[in-house]
Amino acid sequence: MGDLSEEMRMPTPCPECGSHSVRLSEVRNPTDKVFCSSCNTVRGQYADLQKEIENKPKSEAEELLEEVVNKKGNAPSSS
Ligand SMILES: [Zn+2]
Repeated sequence: MGDLSEEMRMPTPCPECGSHSVRLSEVRNPTDKVFCSSCNTVRGQYADLQKEIENKPKSEAEELLEEVVNKKGNAPSSS
């Protein structure tokens, strides 16, 4: 039997070391604590991390950029 943990990539970095990798139990109970795989800081409960992943799609930054560009495009600016 191997160890009962696996790694996962989070959209947000660890506040302590900046790593996006977290280690979680294979069981994946919603109340399981998830740890940073680099420095073992507790990142939160598995249920919380799932919400975070769902609420932060990878394209979020790009969407925000597009929004800014669109707003600028609507503003009257003669070049
Ligand atoms: Zn860390």
